[in-house]
Amino acid sequence: MTVYMEILLLLSGFTPREFSKRFGRRVSAYAGYISPFLRSRKNLKVIADAEVNRLVFNGNRAVGVTYFTNFSRGVRSNNFVRARKEVIVSAGIIGSPLLLMRSGIGPKDDLTRAKVNIIFLLKHAKKH
Ligand SMILES: Cc1cc2nc3c(=O)[nH]c(=O)nc-3n(C[C@H](O)[C@H](O)[C@H](O)COP(=O)(O)OP(=O)(O)OC[C@H]3O[C@@H](n4cnc5c(N)ncnc54)[C@H](O)[C@@H]3O)c2cc1C
Repeated sequence: MTVYMEILLLLSGFTPREFSKRFGRRVSAYAGYISPFLRSRKNLKVIADAEVNRLVFNGNRAVGVTYFTNFSRGVRSNNFVRARKEVIVSAGIIGSPLLLMRSGIGPKDDLTRAKVNIIFLLKHAKKH
């Protein structure tokens, strides 16, 4: 895009969109940020074809997650992984609040209706 076009767009209230690309081609977040480091990072392990079911708590501290593997093949084997330091939830705008609520973090009414054991009340979960 030329500078002239960029100025025109800015004046009109629009801004140029930035896209993640490598060598001129669109890349996914995985291709851009994870796969280049898979071999070199000793502390990184990716478990594919898995779905996190719940966060596991010790008191009100998340200490691990349970997850299903072989998901696409319809076999749901349940697994547990313990966190040494912390659990980071990054399941996206729908997946993250869903996972939190399934784990007992969310608005009281929803958790009570779903008969989920309440860990922490968070009334704004799912409201973003
Ligand atoms: C059409 C479009 C184009 C975009 N282009 C760009 C771009 O070029 N550059 C840019 O920087 N941003 C771009 N964005 C924005 C970018 O995609 C998001 O900001 C970013 O992906 C958010 O990352 P995230 O990790 O929070 O969530 P997500 O990318 O949504 O990742 C969440 C992941 O968690 C998984 N998940 C959900 N629930 C579970 C569960 N229970 N167990 C296991 N996994 C689970 C989902 O399958 C998903 O893979 C674009 C967005 C859209 C819609």
